[in-house]
Order: sequence, then structure tokens, then C-alpha cells
Amino acid sequence: MKLIFERGGQGQRCTILPECDVPEVSLETPGRREKLRLPQVCENEISRHYTELAKQVYGVNHGFYPLGSCTMKYNPKIDEATAALPQFTEIHPLQPVETVQGCLEVLDKARNLLCEITGMDDMTFQPAAGAHGEFTGLLLIKAYHESRKDAGRKKIIVPDSAHGTNPASAVMAGFQVVNIPSGKDGCVDLEKLREAVGEDTAGLMLTNPNTVGLFDKNILEITSIVHEAGGLTYYDGANLNAVMGIARPGDMGFDVVHLNLHKTFAAPHGGGGPGSGPVGCKSFLKEFLPGLQPQPGETGLTLQAPSQSIGSVKAFYGNFLVVVKSLTYLLMLGREGVPQAAQNAVLNANYMMQKLKDLYPMAYPQPCMHEFVISAERLKREKGVAAVDIAKALQDYGIHPPTMYFPLIVHEALMVEPTETESRETLDQAIEAFREIWERGQREPQEILSSPHHSGIKRPDEVQAARKPVLRYNFPETKAQ
Ligand SMILES: *Cc1c(COP(=O)(O)O)cnc(C)c1O
Repeated sequence: MKLIFERGGQGQRCTILPECDVPEVSLETPGRREKLRLPQVCENEISRHYTELAKQVYGVNHGFYPLGSCTMKYNPKIDEATAALPQFTEIHPLQPVETVQGCLEVLDKARNLLCEITGMDDMTFQPAAGAHGEFTGLLLIKAYHESRKDAGRKKIIVPDSAHGTNPASAVMAGFQVVNIPSGKDGCVDLEKLREAVGEDTAGLMLTNPNTVGLFDKNILEITSIVHEAGGLTYYDGANLNAVMGIARPGDMGFDVVHLNLHKTFAAPHGGGGPGSGPVGCKSFLKEFLPGLQPQPGETGLTLQAPSQSIGSVKAFYGNFLVVVKSLTYLLMLGREGVPQAAQNAVLNANYMMQKLKDLYPMAYPQPCMHEFVISAERLKREKGVAAVDIAKALQDYGIHPPTMYFPLIVHEALMVEPTETESRETLDQAIEAFREIWERGQREPQEILSSPHHSGIKRPDEVQAARKPVLRYNFPETKAQ
């Protein structure tokens, strides 16, 4: 496909600026930057360019997108409608509070609902993503230990099934990471945890259900082992889709939680828009929260900084419009709809798992929560078809590949999360595609190894693409102006 710089030509435009009605000022001053080489394209060509770009992208609006641990669910269009209301978009964060009472109410209401869902007492919407929420939550834990003059607590325990952002955030927040191996059943090994905790334990980070799609039945024991050692417990809420409205991290013994509004609460994700990773906490941590918090005042809601705040982790109130989307989603679903969405997510994952397990070996064969993990190890050994080849072949069926090679504890892993928003028909088509790929892998492995056969880009060198991205357009000298 042509780049925007390769379209159009000298003199083509689509600007409709009014005539200049102020004195013109020349920029011909020394030290001025070189002339910007902007593309010169007419409106028709621009429109085609962006339509072409949109066609090259695969998103939840194109088809099935079972990216495990990421909860790529459908984002209802009504969320966009409410987030586009001028009452939410045409305001300024420095406006006097009495003129933005509606917006403060959005933050307050979203906070109350999400605190109820998570079993927390307070929440900040400042963090812009899950990883940013982890960092913020860890700073709360750090501030808590420091406030008690217990600053020797430097270690954060992270199980080996954790999302990579967990250890990374802990290091960024100034902690040392203690990795503990999972047991054979994919859950936390209690003995290993008991050995790991001590006077230097600042806390534990855990997601439950975990990244292999299992709910850890020892969760109460896990959180109490950490508490007894004087540490705090952090819940990575990225997998809350499986339990929202049913089980609450606060009741499982967690002190701090982050949510991914752009996963669980139906805001677009990845390249689709900004994210939001609110952090909830139990009341003994609320005075450490960042930013300003809405509080009831004499004449409505006001904004107050918590007394021992860790400071700000982002400007103002975070990505406010994402909160508007998630609040819309919550109010549309209501008290019955929220747990029903979770139940359907779990049902869909188990349905797919059951329909595939005669062919594809499951890493953990017991019933799953919102996602399940296939191990393609045997197929690779016998036919040379690896997880990546199955992922590539799925593209020919119009399916976005599941998460690959994660979690690291499963070899040749394919982690599938169908989500609740897919119909039985879509699941059946996907099951059919997986089964056909397996059978073709037995009969004609070469065909699978050379897939995808129908996509524009076949098998790019992924390491090269990630490590040496070409982000700059090299103007051919002849085109230079
Ligand atoms: C997605 C995810 C994160 C990180 O969230 P981002 O919003 O991508 O920063 C953390 N933990 C788990 C389990 C996740 O799935």
C-alpha cells in the first residue's frame, strides 16, 4: 500500500482555511527549522488513504479476536455516543467545580460501582493503563510501609504465571522481585509461598483467575500467609471479566486492585483508543491515593487531595472519557447484567475448550474460567507444526490468533479467551477452524507451515520488526522540495 507521502502531488490540497485577516509574518528568521515536507493530497485521496489503512487493520469489529488475558470484547456503540456528548468533551480540567458537577458525578458514580464490584473502599482514575495502575498500586504499598517506619520491606512476590508487567512495575516502583513457581495444578504453590515471605516482604501481586484461566481455590490462605508476614496483597484485575459481580477481590483478602477499563469494562483497547487502569484500595490506604478525589461538600461535589497522597501519576483525572464509556456499560448491564456477562464469558471458554480437547492437548484439563491454554508441544514434536504456525493458519480463516507463547510455564502455548460477546455461531465457526487446522497439520503440515496464504503480509521477521522498526519515511531526493 502507498504511504500518504507517495500519494497526491505538488499543489494538491483540501484545506478550506478562510482568507488571512491579520498581517502576515514571515518565518524567514535564522534558526528556523527546515521546511516541513508535508504530503500534498486532495480530500478524495486522503479519504481513500485512511479507508485503505482501516482495511489493513484487524479489530474486534472485523471478526473473532480471542486474545487470551486481554479480554478483547465487543465495545457497545452506545459507549461512544455518551463519551461524545459535548457536556463531557467541551470542558476544561481547570473549570470551577460548580460548573462540572455532572462530570464529578460520573467519577463518583463509577468509583462507587467499581468499588462495590471489587470490594474496595476508594478508587483513583488517574492511571492510564493496567501497568500504570500496577505502578500506582505499588507506590501505595510502599507509602504504607514507609508511613509505619517499616521501610525494610523491599520485596514483592510474583508467581511465575504473572503477566510480564507485574515484575516490571515492581522494579519500577523500587522493589526487588521474588519469583515463585506455580504448582503442577497451575496455581500458587503454598509451600513455596510460605518459604518466600518474611520480614522483607512488601507484598504479593496476583491475578485470580490467573493467566492460565484457573481460579485459585486457596486464595484466602494465600492472602492470609502474606498478611501474617506483614505484607500487603495486590490484585491484578485484568482477568476480572470472569468473576465480576460474582466474586470480589476485597473478599479474597486483597488490599489494592487495578482494573483495566479497556478490557473488562468495554472500552476499546490496544490501538483502538486510550486506556484506563483505575486503582482501588481498602480504606487504610485511601489517604495515599494520587490526584484529586471527588468528595461530597456543602453545595455538591468538591475535589480534595488525600492527606498523604503519593502525588500525581497523570494529569488531572486520567482518561476521563474512558470512565464515561465504562460507566455507560455498567449502567446498561445493571446489577443482573454484570454477573451474567461474567458467566457467559466462562461458559463460552468452557464450550470451546470441550469442543477442542479431543484434538488439542489442554495444559490444564479441568474446567476453566474465562480462558484456556492449549499446548501444541506434541503437534510440534510429531509434525513440526508449532503454536506460531497454528496462529498463522488461523488468519486464513479470518480469525485473530490467540495469545501465543504465554504464559511461559506452558510450552507451545496458545491462550484462548473467547469473551461473552461472541455468539454460539461464531464459536462454532472458530472451533471448526481450529479442528480443520489440526487435521491439515496431520495430512499436509507443509501447508500449515507456509500459511497464511491469503493475507497481504505473510511471515515478517518479527524480531527485526520489533527491534528495528522503520518509523521514519525516507524521502527520495528527487521528491525533496
Ligand atoms: C493486560 C494485562 C496487564 C497490563 O495491562 P495494560 O493495560 O496492557 O497495561 C496486566 N496484567 C494482566 C493479567 C493483563 O492481562
